[in-house]
Amino acid sequence: MRHDDAPPRGDAPPLTQAPQGDAPPAVRPTSTPDDIGRMSAYCTYCPKMCRFSCPASAAESRETVTPWGMMRLLELTRDQSVALSPEVAETFYHCTGCRRCQAFCRHDNDVPRALWLAREQAAEAGMVPPALGPLRESFAAHSRPYAGAVGWRPDPEVFDPESTVGFWPDCDTLQSNAGLIDRLGRLLERLLGQKVRLIGTGPDHLPVCCGFPLGATGDRPALDHHLQDRWPSLEGLTELYTDCPALRAWAEPGSSWPELSHGDPQRLKPTHLVEVLAEAIAKNPPAQKINLSEVMVHHSCMMTRQAALSAASLKVLRALGGTEPVAMMFDGVESECCGGQAVYRALEPEAANRQAARVADQLHQHPTATRQVSTAATCACALAEARDDLDITSLLELVCEAYAL
Ligand code: SF4
Ligand code: SF4
Repeated sequence: MRHDDAPPRGDAPPLTQAPQGDAPPAVRPTSTPDDIGRMSAYCTYCPKMCRFSCPASAAESRETVTPWGMMRLLELTRDQSVALSPEVAETFYHCTGCRRCQAFCRHDNDVPRALWLAREQAAEAGMVPPALGPLRESFAAHSRPYAGAVGWRPDPEVFDPESTVGFWPDCDTLQSNAGLIDRLGRLLERLLGQKVRLIGTGPDHLPVCCGFPLGATGDRPALDHHLQDRWPSLEGLTELYTDCPALRAWAEPGSSWPELSHGDPQRLKPTHLVEVLAEAIAKNPPAQKINLSEVMVHHSCMMTRQAALSAASLKVLRALGGTEPVAMMFDGVESECCGGQAVYRALEPEAANRQAARVADQLHQHPTATRQVSTAATCACALAEARDDLDITSLLELVCEAYAL
């Protein structure tokens, strides 16, 4: 595929449909077809400036799944030079949403935003990749992306169902490190001076997912159903905390994702735990400092480039160690994506694992750092699965360790 083989622009088909009926949609698109057309045209004539930055490109070594390749294909389907087929549609799902390409794009192109809408068009045409079937079935049955049984149950001594302060845990924390939910509940009680209410009780009496991975499949009706019927009531809450960067990013106007429609006025904008910890740790410091010279930090792409929480994460680290983190290899803008996003892992499990191992290897090359700390549960889980011989943990696990929780 060459840069100069662009077909003449035709009337592009709409990428989104107007909501049906009188009820407000659960999700509002934040980009118009014109925005997408502008972005895909920029990519078409670009000398692939961001190619090196993409985790899918690195893991799969295929031109088709570079940011340029995916956006070029989107442009061709918009021009109707290429018909949307299951094979074409599948290509749009190879973006993890990390937004790293945007950090190197002179046009500030938001590739995941464009591809999210391309997936909605694919899903409307019944072309969600079959590899995502188990993830969708798990959402239908459990309201989470993972079907695996979770043996953990919340400690009734930790949470107060009557509290007006809510805590909605990340479903990757639930799946990979469920005991941390109790510890975070205790941490919040210590720092806030009151117990919190555990939010998101699903069909199996466990917290549900906010729906981000389901939205990333492009299946808008399924996401709407999840938001309208499976989202827990947040009635009576005055504050809502979460350790899920995706849930926080839903409410971040600058993120790539379509906004949730808060038709229910009781629904609150969530605060990520690092935002509250950044202030609370300084006022109520742990007895034990963390030795930051041992720590190599991996900034999660969802925490930095979608939820804009890299500064808060660094503030937490500084408060825990009392110093600057000396072993910081990647900053919050250019940090590499580990490939751990649920849809990409479902679609390309081996490539996702290769990418996680590659990022873990890079983090491990520091001369003094022996611990890897990721700012999100999703990444800590993916990195640890790929390199179980390394000491890899999450930032919130580190906080609980400092407080001996
Ligand atoms: S996202 Fe930006 S840098 Fe990357 S291919 Fe498109 S125009 Fe070029
Ligand atoms: S957002 Fe990340 S995964 Fe998606 S195209 Fe850009 S660099 Fe690749």
